[in-house]
Amino acid sequence: MCSKEAKLPPHVLIFPLPAQGHMNSMLNLAQLLCLSDFHVTFIVSEFNHSRLLKHSGTGSTFARYPGFQFQTIPDGLPDDHPRAGYKLMDIIASLINKVAPIFNKMLIEKDLFASANRRPVTCIVADGVLSFAADFTEERGIPLIYFRTVSACAFWTYFCISQVTEANEMPLQENGLEEFAKTIPGMEGLLRRRDIPRFCAADDASDPILWDVITLTRQTVRAKAFILNTFDDLEQPVLSNILKHMPRLYTIGPGNAHFKSRLGENKADASTPSASLWAEDLNCIDWLNAQKPKSVIYVSFGSITTVTREQLLEFWHGLVNSEQRFLWVMRPDSILGKDGDRIPAELEKGTKENGYMVEWAPQEEVLNHSAVGGFLTHGGWNSILESIVAGVPMICWSYFADQMVNSRFVSEVWKIGLDIKDRCDRVVIENAVRELMEVRKDQFLDRADHFAKKAKMTSSEGGSSSRNLNDLIEFIESFCV
Ligand code: UDP
Repeated sequence: MCSKEAKLPPHVLIFPLPAQGHMNSMLNLAQLLCLSDFHVTFIVSEFNHSRLLKHSGTGSTFARYPGFQFQTIPDGLPDDHPRAGYKLMDIIASLINKVAPIFNKMLIEKDLFASANRRPVTCIVADGVLSFAADFTEERGIPLIYFRTVSACAFWTYFCISQVTEANEMPLQENGLEEFAKTIPGMEGLLRRRDIPRFCAADDASDPILWDVITLTRQTVRAKAFILNTFDDLEQPVLSNILKHMPRLYTIGPGNAHFKSRLGENKADASTPSASLWAEDLNCIDWLNAQKPKSVIYVSFGSITTVTREQLLEFWHGLVNSEQRFLWVMRPDSILGKDGDRIPAELEKGTKENGYMVEWAPQEEVLNHSAVGGFLTHGGWNSILESIVAGVPMICWSYFADQMVNSRFVSEVWKIGLDIKDRCDRVVIENAVRELMEVRKDQFLDRADHFAKKAKMTSSEGGSSSRNLNDLIEFIESFCV
């Protein structure tokens, strides 16, 4: 190594799955590293990059970090591909078959992204779902750290699912759904069969995406270290089990709170950059400003969930019948088969009286608004963590995957909300909203406040996530000597 290079900071390449939730949590890590003067190359798909530029002006937002750069790569999918949850298999297959060879070639041709002021990549932090990163880095001798953007409880469940299958607890039988799964250490008497992650119908033994996720979860141990966007006080018992398999585990979450805390310490520009793939509708903040404290339930199902028109109408009737005020994010691409259908008059009327709808919201700002007292969520891990940080209780309706486990922990372990699992008929929704926003409102708000305080403490100087980040930074620096 020449003496000039020896003086350059570590250079981390970060590669998330090209989806909003994965990008958000890994962008938080990128910014945390930039605040420690690291250089970061962040891989983003060409498709998402053009949306970031269009909707978030992200190019200029991240220009505040001199060491940060985006590197675009094709995602291998046609432009008109929906890139939604029900097509996740296409995304994963395209990453493995088309994107991986392009990425490997790019790294070699670009000399590990070295430039006059940037050393070659010191290590790669790859999304834990990118299994190809392990083969490539092992061949080239580049240190690899895996980052899984799910909760520790969901990760651990994936890690153990092959045992569940061997014990014939999967595929799920209609009549055995309420039985506890017995083969996931630490989750006995807690996780029911119906809480086990799935992507297809409950009785589909082949569930190909699930098997892919199980396989890639098992190979996480090949990396030199492992990062989770969670914090010790939230998931300690599960983390102890994971540690037995991956001793170099860094829990540095909640990423958003941690990033804000360090930003404050650095006294840099206090605003957080948006990296939304849709345009944020800021009119909803004006609407919230006119509502009473803790009177509004915020409704959002994240960035890749889709609902049928039938499900949509059940949610809608339930919300209107609950007579609570609601702010609902309805992504334009989230409703299957909506064209040409008429909205029942009572829903139009109920929404006019009590509701407000947007196509995309500034979610963290919404959750932290004083008018918001509850969150009806699909239980994506970013959404849950953002709600925990804001001290907002939740109703979780699970669409698929890790959400099935997260929702169980929200209701049974942390007791900060209700788990309606995959049921969304109008009566279930109405009752759950009334229970969260009226009947048990104070009880849930107290619990949520308790975890919000812990989330902030862990991210502040001296807190466990802050210490773990310092250790991670030292570990990455050790690759430079
Ligand atoms: N989000 C947002 N505005 C919206 C809806 C969602 O900014 O109107 C963000 C949200 O803050 C979160 C991410 O999109 O960071 C969704 O990630 P999550 O893990 O909750 O769910 P996913 O989209 O991966 O299913």
